[in-house]
Amino acid sequence: MSTGRLTIDLDAVVANWRALDAMTNCRTAAVVKANGYGLGAANVAKALFKAGVRQFFVAVAEEAVPIREELGPKPEINVFSGHMKGDTELIRDLRLTPMLNSVEQLTHHFETLPGHPFGIQLDTGMNRLGMEMQEWAAIAELALAQNPTLVMSHLACADEPDHPMNPYQLENFRKMTDGIQVPRSFAATGGILLGPAYHFDLTRPGIGLYGGLPFATATPTVELDLPIVQVRDVAEGEVVGYANAWQAERPSRIATVSGGYADGIARILSDKAILYHGDIPCPLVGRVSMDLLTIDITDLPDTPAKLTLIGPQQTVDDLAKAANTIGYEILTQLGRRYERKTYGK
Ligand SMILES: *Cc1c(COP(=O)(O)O)cnc(C)c1O
Repeated sequence: MSTGRLTIDLDAVVANWRALDAMTNCRTAAVVKANGYGLGAANVAKALFKAGVRQFFVAVAEEAVPIREELGPKPEINVFSGHMKGDTELIRDLRLTPMLNSVEQLTHHFETLPGHPFGIQLDTGMNRLGMEMQEWAAIAELALAQNPTLVMSHLACADEPDHPMNPYQLENFRKMTDGIQVPRSFAATGGILLGPAYHFDLTRPGIGLYGGLPFATATPTVELDLPIVQVRDVAEGEVVGYANAWQAERPSRIATVSGGYADGIARILSDKAILYHGDIPCPLVGRVSMDLLTIDITDLPDTPAKLTLIGPQQTVDDLAKAANTIGYEILTQLGRRYERKTYGK
């Protein structure tokens, strides 16, 4: 096998869901957008459904197709982007629940699918999706008369517990929803960690299920091993890779491994990433190319068959830090050509 091997632990995903669920006294949904943050939406949803999850969220209606296929009619599948023009048939046929984001979406939904379940997304300050205070005030009565399944909003700074945006958005959410008889949802992973004032009736964790920050005590869910394709000795002064970007300062042993920016290993990791053999660090030298990395294994006692990029020595968030990004991006960019081994139920 000449591609990287991505090991996905669904039992860890379930354990993370249970841990997040145990932090609140309300219900806990699961966000499985972007192909389950890169891990495989159908497999993730199946494992969580077995563990008792009955409410899922996706970003766009199309993402619900493999999930509905896998789980059948029972679970609720909510769509953050709401009811967009062109989505009507999919929403009807797959019995999806759109989170309506504007008066325009609300009108379109009532006209095309009267009586079909829907929720409402409110904007409490993030200015991304959802109805604003004025808009909501104008149509709340009409919308509530049609029995929405949920009223929700999203926090912009929940990963920074002391950020004044958190209480500000909370106050807005309460102003817009206190007293209504509809279940409310406000917290994603970060919001769960902010405490009970943020929990309401349903939480919507995503990244925490997949082992990423801000859920610092999460169980890791993925490992990534890259096979060594070739090993060579390089004399002091010789160069390695595109643009001669690295020059050996001592006689070195260089391993060429399978994996590159086409697999989501960002080019910014050139000369920066560390791969591991057991607990021995092996620095990436020179440029990340499309399909290959060059790794300095001079200090290894032997030549292994593979090196580890994500594993016990280096978490998704460690790698994210080296790449100047966040764990969310590392996960959702995990390459499609890796051999995927999914364990757990
Ligand atoms: C992505 C998303 C979530 C999940 O957020 P995490 O930070 O991954 O837990 C919840 N709600 C909305 C509206 C989202 O867009």
